[in-house]
Amino acid sequence: MKKIFSLMLLTIFFVSCTQNLVTGRKQLSLVSESELQTMAKQEYQSFLSANTVVNANSNKDAEMVRRVGTRIAAAIKTYYDGKGQTSVLEGYQWEFNLVDNKEANAWCMPGGKVVVYTGLLSITQNEAALAIVLGHEIAHAIAQHGSERMSQALLQQLGGTVLQVALANKPAETQNLFLTAYGVGTTVGAILPFSRKEETEADKYGLYFAAMAGYNPQEAVPFWERMAAAGGAKQIGFLSSHPSDASRITAIKANMPQAMKYYKPMRK
Ligand SMILES: [Zn+2]
Repeated sequence: MKKIFSLMLLTIFFVSCTQNLVTGRKQLSLVSESELQTMAKQEYQSFLSANTVVNANSNKDAEMVRRVGTRIAAAIKTYYDGKGQTSVLEGYQWEFNLVDNKEANAWCMPGGKVVVYTGLLSITQNEAALAIVLGHEIAHAIAQHGSERMSQALLQQLGGTVLQVALANKPAETQNLFLTAYGVGTTVGAILPFSRKEETEADKYGLYFAAMAGYNPQEAVPFWERMAAAGGAKQIGFLSSHPSDASRITAIKANMPQAMKYYKPMRK
């Protein structure tokens, strides 16, 4: 029985592994990107109505979040259009919102639905560091790390069922898996850390995207040092899922020369 089960899993794995355009890595994919984007639209709307959204027309911080996000999104589009990989951003309808929440957190759902929590701004402290975080979160989304985690969760917790079936039969559980996969937790321990490999990918591409958008990628080093200093016993949100340690900072420094090649400072 066990043998049949592992054979089944193996089959699922081979049938549903796709090569990611951004990273070139093969990923488990039991859910389609378009299904996830549809689900993201609903979850994003319900998150925004359940939280206090800061008005980007009257608040400088919220305006900054929108500005940085829009610049990064435009840079990514130019980059992948230039590579003939326009499909990386298929279905994307970007939205960037700042919500009033003391937690230091930020995330990007599939399809480009981004939220930054006000609590993160005391650690980013400047626009370039915010670009580093948004670049990182957007890299997780377009490298489809969330769908990889969602697929793993469907396999492990709901027996490898497809998303529509899971949604129809176990809507609450499926919604919970989705929110966990994208880091939209509001309680301690509700957020699954991304794997080391996914973190390294997001750091690398996030650095490049921030640089392409005109933000100095070198701000990443002091930012992650501030993250390390902010990390304490009460780690929630971004701090808990993004441990800042020497090896992360070393890897970021190793990618810096390449990032600097992409960096075109904005004209003042
Ligand atoms: Zn991350």
